[in-house]
Amino acid sequence: MPTDGVSARAVRAAAWSHPVTGVRFVDAPRAELLEKLEIRTVEDLLRHYPARYLDLSTSAAIGSLPLGMDATAVGTVHEISVKRPKPRLSVTEVTITDGSGVLVGVWFNQSYLAQRFRQGERVAFAGKVTLEYGLRQMRNPFVERLGESSTSAWLGRVLPVHPATEGLSTNWMRRLVSEALDQYGDVPDYLPAALRIENDLIPLASAMRWIHFPPGLGEKDAARRRLAYDELLALQIGMAVRRHRLVARPGHSHRIDGPTSSALASAVPFDLTDDQTTARREVLVDMAAPRPMNRMLLGDVGTGKTVIAAMAMACVADSGGQAAMMAPTEVLASQYAGSVGPLLDAAGVRWALLTGSTPAAEKRRIVAGVGDGSVTVLLGTHALLTESVRFSRLTLAVVDEQHRFGVTQRLGLRGKGEGVDMLVMTATPIPRSLALTLYGDLDTSYLRTRPGGRGASHVTTTLVPHGGRDHAYELVREQVRSGRQAYVVCALVDESDASEARAAVKEAERLKAEVFPDMEVGLLTGQMKTPDKARVMDAFRAGDIQVLVATTVIEVGVDVQNTTVMIVEDAERFGLAQLHQLRGRIGRGEHPGQVLLFADPKTAEGRQRMQAIAGTSDGFQLAEDDLRLRGEGQVLGARQHGIPELRLASVLSDGDLLAAARADAAALAGTDPGLRRAEHVALGMHVRHVFGRDWQWVSSG
Ligand code: ADP
Ligand code: MG
Repeated sequence: MPTDGVSARAVRAAAWSHPVTGVRFVDAPRAELLEKLEIRTVEDLLRHYPARYLDLSTSAAIGSLPLGMDATAVGTVHEISVKRPKPRLSVTEVTITDGSGVLVGVWFNQSYLAQRFRQGERVAFAGKVTLEYGLRQMRNPFVERLGESSTSAWLGRVLPVHPATEGLSTNWMRRLVSEALDQYGDVPDYLPAALRIENDLIPLASAMRWIHFPPGLGEKDAARRRLAYDELLALQIGMAVRRHRLVARPGHSHRIDGPTSSALASAVPFDLTDDQTTARREVLVDMAAPRPMNRMLLGDVGTGKTVIAAMAMACVADSGGQAAMMAPTEVLASQYAGSVGPLLDAAGVRWALLTGSTPAAEKRRIVAGVGDGSVTVLLGTHALLTESVRFSRLTLAVVDEQHRFGVTQRLGLRGKGEGVDMLVMTATPIPRSLALTLYGDLDTSYLRTRPGGRGASHVTTTLVPHGGRDHAYELVREQVRSGRQAYVVCALVDESDASEARAAVKEAERLKAEVFPDMEVGLLTGQMKTPDKARVMDAFRAGDIQVLVATTVIEVGVDVQNTTVMIVEDAERFGLAQLHQLRGRIGRGEHPGQVLLFADPKTAEGRQRMQAIAGTSDGFQLAEDDLRLRGEGQVLGARQHGIPELRLASVLSDGDLLAAARADAAALAGTDPGLRRAEHVALGMHVRHVFGRDWQWVSSG
């Protein structure tokens, strides 16, 4: 056994990885229950942070609870009742008293709750206090049963509520966490003292104790701040190390003012928007620099990313290199031939398109041309990643719609050259804060505006209230009378595409018979055969169909500039991102567009989502609203980005902490990228531990 203090502490730190059964009271059956909460090690238990806290330190006497505010009250259950005033309505009321007054907890249609209470037991209610018929009341309060023994212990303190599971109550969770802290909580701090002091953070051991058992709310906040910083710092260090590694290797100094660039620039038939001009400058500066570029270009569909990519590829042609541009689908890749192709042709750049359906003979020819350097630009799908595709001198890789590719695919393309410049383009609006978190290893350029003054004020989105249908249909008639066209989008009714199609078919019949008998109403669903779809689209494009009833198939790719109205049925069933994509289909021409959302949201969240989409046409703002409404856990949890989980830190509300962590990580990567100095070693080990297997991603590529 080591005897000196330092090693003894190191041993304690290592003990965090022990099985959770090392904690007193955790026997095999309890370990099995903990497993359900994904708690396997001592550390898992210590990092099982409370979901919320009940502030019993300030819990007021019931008789003096402030009205209209959130409060916590403790009392004894006096009466439990379930009433059924209507056939489909039950009202559960639990009355508690504390000698100073009476408080009624009220729940609707949750009569099973009645069985959870016992007369005479001590409970805490937390919620908003209102006055009903002269009685203080809380609707749907949060309840904690205090139990006989622990009652007095918690009064006057902040009670943590840890996520629990069937068979392991919150009381038990508290007890187990408390044991774990006593046995393993006194850990050495991996954070260098300088960073801790600079950022005004409390020591790790105190933070661990106070996040679970804070003496008061102030201590809880201090603990949360320290641990949230740790999460963000580890993440940013990973990104910074990766970034440092990527730019440390030699790259290509592209020529950015060559003849091909000029020829391509003069072939572009429009002036760049301000955002495009900025993005082009950022991209070209990166390309001229002797380090590999790592840039992400973010912009909604239609903001004009393609021309930026084409300009970057022209620099490659002027520098004797090769470029590859990869799209996630065959349709998108084929569209390059029509969008990028003509620009490259005009500049005299030799290019080819390679997809899964390229005939074998042609594929052989293309692969040979790529290999001997006679093909300068290769456009295509995943097919580009196949082993047989070998470039003679790849210096630029452009990856479109990055979110659909995994990290490994992004790397795969880059791996086909040395020091390759990387330009990632995405149409998914990602709020800046989130981009820094998920893609902290990349520089970002934003296209916020659509060309030609289209965008922001060009499309209005309106929620149509109940009974507003007739008015909406009148709007459609008006537009059609003045020569415009309309979409009616039907939502998924249940999980199957078939039902969506059925709904669209029925809606088309109804509109034709009852609403627009004097107009041509067409139908487009994903279930239709390709030639039938094409026929309908052609007729719509030609203006022979005025109102097109469609399922979400129009979300991608359909572009009829004469369409100015879109009605969305059951809009609350759509995700915000999807609605935003949908409305991008209209107002694309000279005429302003109107989106009319028929919605009947049943939940508060649903109402907020509808208000969000009507409230802004800025995709980035909307993405932020979406993140807020759906919860960051949902969004970040669903990622396949290979980044560590954020349990406490909030991408949206910890902006200052994120900025601090990012700056600190960048400084560390600049002075001690391997975190080898004595004062950084512990932090380095912690960061590696946090990344786990994903560290490989950080330290490679
Ligand atoms: P994205 O790839 O961002 O979805 P595209 O690059 O396909 O957008 O551009 C959408 C359309 O706008 C294309 O038809 C393109 O030619 C056109 N466009 C791009 N930039 C401009 C501009 N500055 N002015 C006018 N039209 C533009
Ligand atoms: Mg595009």
